[in-house]
Amino acid sequence: MSDDLLAFNPDKPVTLPGKKCAYCGVVLQRRTTTQDHVVGRRFVPEGTLTTGFFLQVKSCRPCNDRKAALEDDISLITMLPDTLGRYVNDDERLRRTVARKSRGAISPATRRLAAESYNRIDARIPIGGGASLTYRGVAMPTLDDQRVARLAYYHVQGFQHFASFDRERGHGSWLEQNRFLMLDQFTMDDWGNSQLMHFMAETVDWEPTCVTMLADGYFCHVMRKKPNADLWSWALEWNGRLRIIGLYGGRGERDAFVKNMPSLSADVSYGDTTNGFAMRYETPLADEDDRLFDLPEDFADRPFAAPHWRESRPPGTKD
Ligand SMILES: [Zn+2]
Repeated sequence: MSDDLLAFNPDKPVTLPGKKCAYCGVVLQRRTTTQDHVVGRRFVPEGTLTTGFFLQVKSCRPCNDRKAALEDDISLITMLPDTLGRYVNDDERLRRTVARKSRGAISPATRRLAAESYNRIDARIPIGGGASLTYRGVAMPTLDDQRVARLAYYHVQGFQHFASFDRERGHGSWLEQNRFLMLDQFTMDDWGNSQLMHFMAETVDWEPTCVTMLADGYFCHVMRKKPNADLWSWALEWNGRLRIIGLYGGRGERDAFVKNMPSLSADVSYGDTTNGFAMRYETPLADEDDRLFDLPEDFADRPFAAPHWRESRPPGTKD
């Protein structure tokens, strides 16, 4: 083995050094340099990030603050129980975290406490002959696409930085914002819908370039490369509740992928877009059909591909 020992240990935390912000690439000034958990400790249920692998990078103060603000209420909303009061797991850590966070996070969309932000739906649906049907319901809080996309970028970029980290140069690479596209976000009850099924089927055999599962499974990320193409897919799962899917690559290849995706049409609708009502039944996903984070069978036996993370040791030193 060379002097470069493969130091990455999937059971231990990693702290990347760096003179540039891992998110935006700005040259860091000593005064404003921060150490950032790529997946914030408070983004996942408390106690789930204390052991095992997690990643810290150097970032500038504005990136750190922006990411923390996004994580703050998105984490609570993705941890909340559903409208029937069910948590994704019967996990005391989850319940405890929600109870604590519910006292603080304010939803930017509703200006109310995020935990009180379940959407109330009231609709009157005419069914002919002057009669109408009243639909009242409560839906899960919805997350603004732009905010979800921005946080997704921070997470995907953080792990990209790690996977491409070059110790000699002191930094990894940066994903270009204009090549980064979020396709959609879906809550757990809808992971079996035709779009997500199509995305899974299309990309599951692409080569994984970065795979992360941490916080006892409350955070998952995978990025895959389409063979012989300028196109990657990425997917995130936050707190077992929300999946976000997207693409990275040239516009032409992204457009071609999107064109082939089935559209999600309403199952029930009336009226028009300014004065109407539409709803789509959600489709849950059976465990055996879930391939979003599947890896090739030989994946665990493969040697780490360069570059990953290497630590230089002074010549002559030994473990
Ligand atoms: Zn930055």
